[in-house]
Amino acid sequence: MTNQQLIQRSLTAVWHPCTQMKQHEQYPLVPIQHGEGMWLYDFEGKRYLDAVSSWWTNLFGHNHPGIKDAIKQQLDTLEHVMLAGFTHQPVIELSEKLGELTGLGHAFYGSDGASATEIALKMSFHFWRNSGKSGKNKFISLQNSYHGETLGALGVTDVAIFKDTYAALLTQSAQVPSPDWRLAEQGESPEQFALRCADALEQYVATHADELAAFIIEPLVQCAAGMGMYHPVYLQRAREICDRYQVHLIADEIAVGFGRTGTMFACEQASIKPDFMCLSKGITGGYLPLSVVLTTDVIYQAFYHDEVTKGFLHSHSYTGNPLACSAALATLAIFETEDVLQRNRQKAESINMKMQVLTDLPTKRLRQQGMIWAFEIVTRNAQFSKDCYANGLAHGLLLRPIGNTVYWMPPYVMNESEIGFLVDTTAKVIKQSL
Ligand SMILES: *Cc1c(COP(=O)(O)O)cnc(C)c1O
Repeated sequence: MTNQQLIQRSLTAVWHPCTQMKQHEQYPLVPIQHGEGMWLYDFEGKRYLDAVSSWWTNLFGHNHPGIKDAIKQQLDTLEHVMLAGFTHQPVIELSEKLGELTGLGHAFYGSDGASATEIALKMSFHFWRNSGKSGKNKFISLQNSYHGETLGALGVTDVAIFKDTYAALLTQSAQVPSPDWRLAEQGESPEQFALRCADALEQYVATHADELAAFIIEPLVQCAAGMGMYHPVYLQRAREICDRYQVHLIADEIAVGFGRTGTMFACEQASIKPDFMCLSKGITGGYLPLSVVLTTDVIYQAFYHDEVTKGFLHSHSYTGNPLACSAALATLAIFETEDVLQRNRQKAESINMKMQVLTDLPTKRLRQQGMIWAFEIVTRNAQFSKDCYANGLAHGLLLRPIGNTVYWMPPYVMNESEIGFLVDTTAKVIKQSL
């Protein structure tokens, strides 16, 4: 099978996500035959360095022997059983481990990130209802936030290009000012700006507490907004404010969990515990779809009742799928047996040093948080992001800029020569795309 034949068949049979399909007249699809470590290979043997971890999911590279073996072993035992009325070893072990890691528990599973958002929103509302406060039925999120594309999740998302078309279908939510320091006034430090935004949050919450169920937030990095980063003091203040006014805090760690921001979970950098934590993407190392919502004993207890409808009657067919849980357990085992966070700090330093080559380019607001790097490119080319993507592919590099924001969110397994390739090729590709 050649690349060309596969492209034609795919365009006829597959509706690709987040894509204006007509643009594939100019930007060809890339059929991938196999993956190995940092690299994706097409059917003609050309390879691409996966600098975006296959949409922020892959942590330890493609074709990882440990994760692959765990899935194979599980496949010989039990591929799937429904989780209502039944249970199995991988889901129990994974839930126990996630409980130890987060200090939360009562793991409730879904398949994709958006389903975790839906679960957390519904649980929060239902908690207040079970507690005799059904007036608490509204949500707030940050300006420019992203929590997924299903109707409930899109209702708390604030990215116009994804949301505006469907406005008539969505439950309204309010947005509070984002502490993303790109939005700060000149001369204001990220910390001062975060504190000022927290004051705005408090003002809003103080006047709307009776109707607010929860505040949902992406801790430390608003990824889909173009890797907007903010000072952890905002999370501390948000926790205090939510406690003071009895509003739940939902931490959407779908993109930032599992070491991405430098700690296992981003909330740790503010020493806070949310009422709900949503996890997905990296949870299986990028091998199988799985998401989970973890919560507190207090919230769980409010559902524990003789009345059926006080329980959380939500489900997805593949809830807690054993194969996906086994991939997640194998991923967590890598964190346990290899000093991943420490090793990532060394890799990050090496990238930061090599990044000096970017200083000749028209970059703005170079920033890094753990294993995420981003900067804006100043150019008059309105097609910059598409050109950068296409030129990247031509040079064997998978970059997917968000507008004029170029970012790296690579798997954690890069070696020195791959780091060199990543940085040098990015510089070359940007020069070509200005
Ligand atoms: C990707 C993402 C989601 C949605 O996850 P899907 O698996 O794409 O449904 C939700 N929140 C954040 C912060 C994300 O980055």
